[in-house]
Amino acid sequence: MRRALVAGNWKMNGSTDFISELMAELVAGIQTSDVDVLVCPPAVYLSQVKSLSSSLISVGAQNVSENSEGAFTGEISLSMLNDLGCNYVILGHSERRSLYAESDAVVADKFIATVTAGLMPILCVGETLEEREEGKTLEVVGRQLKAVIDVAGIEAFASAVIAYEPIWAIGTGKTATPDQAQDVHAAIRAMIAEHDAKTASAIRILYGGSVNASNAAELFANDDVDGGLVGGASLKANDFIAICHAAG
Ligand code: PEP
Repeated sequence: MRRALVAGNWKMNGSTDFISELMAELVAGIQTSDVDVLVCPPAVYLSQVKSLSSSLISVGAQNVSENSEGAFTGEISLSMLNDLGCNYVILGHSERRSLYAESDAVVADKFIATVTAGLMPILCVGETLEEREEGKTLEVVGRQLKAVIDVAGIEAFASAVIAYEPIWAIGTGKTATPDQAQDVHAAIRAMIAEHDAKTASAIRILYGGSVNASNAAELFANDDVDGGLVGGASLKANDFIAICHAAG
């Protein structure tokens, strides 16, 4: 059985005061160890979040450099994330791909660096609305996955998580239906199974895209949906706690 994971992507939101309040509420409200819970704050707040967190809430980053150290102004390395006690890194989020021109190749390099450093990548894949309407969802998701498998090898997926995030559902309030999510999740698992059946049955595939306290349970009830990557609703303690409970 796969253990569910609910990850909060806070994106570029928060302040020290806001985070103190949010973390106090999350620590008080998340008492279950049935589900893995993760929060990914902006990098400048990782230490604060780590110091306020409990053993039931892991801390992760929203991005990382593929380089190990040196003249890379503005970048953050895996050894720094390790140093701060981070366990996960979100990679290839559609906002990074579209706003910061992160290519499949760069995402693959970051993926290898993350696994090598002993952190768990959460590899985001997903199609635009236009691609879905043209019937290209699996082609796009397959290309994004293959780019990483070709470079990192399927073995690297033994310590990774995949997040299916249809771009048209991110921050829009439009959620994929449970059937749409299940169909793509099952296809992703089948793509992994073409390389290695054991890895395919063990890997967690999260759904992301306007998950909220009302729709989480029906999305997570699908066989191949192993939790969620949550943006907006992860900034509201009660909603995020409810989403975590829906995965348990
Ligand atoms: C995300 O940013 O990964 C995300 C899924 O955002 P939202 O939940 O706000 O759609």
